Amino acid sequence: MKIYLDIDGTMIHEDLTENYCKPAKGLLEFLEALRPYDTYWLTTHCTDGNPEGARRIMKEKVPEAYHADIDRIKPTVWQDLKTKGIDFSSDFIWFDNDIYVGEWEVLKQCTDNQSVIEVDLRSNPNHLIELTNDLLVELQKQYGK
Ligand SMILES: [Mg+2]
Repeated sequence: MKIYLDIDGTMIHEDLTENYCKPAKGLLEFLEALRPYDTYWLTTHCTDGNPEGARRIMKEKVPEAYHADIDRIKPTVWQDLKTKGIDFSSDFIWFDNDIYVGEWEVLKQCTDNQSVIEVDLRSNPNHLIELTNDLLVELQKQYGK
């Protein structure tokens, strides 16, 4: 199971409210829940296989004890559509707040164990907490990790 992670609007607020640039509630627990999985950046901060930009942004938002969780997230290479960075030969979950029409088009080929989760921190600031509790706990049961 591969996990693909967007940053802006997914793990860090990008809405122009008092939450702007703040980490999403429950981010640390989310990162902990991802520990058993093969995780990848799928963000505009990492498009060329260099994870440094994504790492720098995320490390500013989490305590040092979580920097190892950030460092182990692998880079992807993609242009135009994030789906170009996804390995469609593996099971995966992609967390993102903003899926483009062209990406939805590509996602039509997904099998049962390939999915995208639209994170909506703007209307539900607790969304990441809920996803950690519901989805990731369920996955742990399913994958026995
Ligand atoms: Mg985003």
